[in-house]
Amino acid sequence: MPDVEIRGAYKKFGSNVVLNGIDLDIQQGELLTLLGPSGCGKTTTLNVIAGFLDIDQGEVYIKGKKMNKVPPYKRDLGMVFQTYSLFPHMTVYENLNFGLSLHKVEKAERKRRIAYAMELVKMVGLEGRYPREMSGGQRQRVAIARALVVQPKLLLLDEPLSNLDAKLRHELRIEIKRLQKELGVTTIFVTHDQEEALSLSDRIVVMNKGNIEQIGTPGEIYQHPKTEFVFHFIGKSTRMDGVVKSIDRQSIQVQTQTGLQVSADPNNIMGEDRRLQAGDEVKLYIRPEKISLHMAADQPSLDNAHKGMITQMNYLGSAWEVEVSLSGEAIQSLCPAVNPAWSVGSEVYAGWQSPDMMLIKK
Ligand code: ATP
Repeated sequence: MPDVEIRGAYKKFGSNVVLNGIDLDIQQGELLTLLGPSGCGKTTTLNVIAGFLDIDQGEVYIKGKKMNKVPPYKRDLGMVFQTYSLFPHMTVYENLNFGLSLHKVEKAERKRRIAYAMELVKMVGLEGRYPREMSGGQRQRVAIARALVVQPKLLLLDEPLSNLDAKLRHELRIEIKRLQKELGVTTIFVTHDQEEALSLSDRIVVMNKGNIEQIGTPGEIYQHPKTEFVFHFIGKSTRMDGVVKSIDRQSIQVQTQTGLQVSADPNNIMGEDRRLQAGDEVKLYIRPEKISLHMAADQPSLDNAHKGMITQMNYLGSAWEVEVSLSGEAIQSLCPAVNPAWSVGSEVYAGWQSPDMMLIKK
C-alpha cells in the first residue's frame, strides 16, 4: 500500500483551477519531488497533503486512512519551508524541544532525540544559539532537525534550499538525500529547480497548470520525456523543423527546412498523437550533450553526421558550449573538450545517434 494516495484531487481558487483532478501514489521510504514552473500547483499539492488546504473534490489517504477532514497536527508530519520557520525567540534546543513537548514525549527521550537530530544535521554544539546567530544554511539544518525530531510519518519540504547560495544549496542537497535514505522517511520535496529534482529524487512528478505531465525516475524523465513540456522543462535543446520523408519500425527519415537529412527513432515520438506518416510536419529536438563534434578524419560511426562551421564557442570551465551551423541550422553542442585548433569559422562534423533525438508532430 502506498504511504500517500491522492485520488482525483481538484481545487479551484475563484475561477482559477489549480489542481485539475490529480492522482498520485507515494511509496513508503521514497523521496518524491514535485517539479514544475511557478504557479503549476506544487505547493497547493503539498498543502493538501499536509491538511492546510481542503480540496473541492477527491480524496487524500495517508497510510491507508482517509485524511480529508483530519487537521494538520493529527497527520504526523514534519515540514520545512523556504523561509526560515524557526521560532526567533527560542534557542536551537528550544526549537527542537517545542514539538516534542507538544507530543508529550518524556524528558529523557526528548534529550536523546534532540541529540540524535543535531548529529544527523551536523549541528552538535550549536544548541544554545538563537536563529539570528546562525547562517541561512545552519538555520535550514535546524529546521530539518526540528521536522525530523518528532519522527514524522511523512517529511514535507517546500523549496527548502531556494534561499541559499549555489554552493550551500548543493551541499545541503547531498545532506538531505543522505539523511532521507538513512532514516527511510517518506519525503515529498517541492522545487522548481530541475537539477535539484534530478539529483535528489527517487521519482519526479512534473506538473503543469494543475495537471501531472509525467511521473518517473530522473532517468525516465530526462531520457524519455512523454511530452514537449517535460522535454523543455528539463534540460536544454536545439530545435529543428522538418517533414517526414519515410517511416518504418526501425527509423524515421526527416528532411529539415534547411535541407538536412536526419534519421530519428520511432520510439522517441512525444505527445498525444504518436502516429506519423510521410508528409507530416514535425519538430525535432536534441540535447546539446548528445551532439559530438569531430574532425572528418576521426569521425566515429554515427546515425547522423553533418559537416558544418563553428559560429560560437563559450568556455564553461568543465565543458565547452559550441554552436555549429549545419547548412543554416544552428546546433548547440556541449563538449567536455574541444580540439585546440578549433575556433569560430573552423569546419567540423557534428554527429548524434537517432535515439538521442526526440520528435513531435506539429
Ligand atoms: P511557486 O513555485 O511559485 O510556489 P507553485 O507551483 O507552488 O508555484 P501554487 O502555490 O501551488 O504554485 O499555486 C498554484 C496557483 O494557485 C497559482 O496560480 C496561485 O496564484 C494560486 N493560489 C495559491 N494559493 C492561493 C490562494 N490562497 N488564493 C488564491 N489563489 C491561490
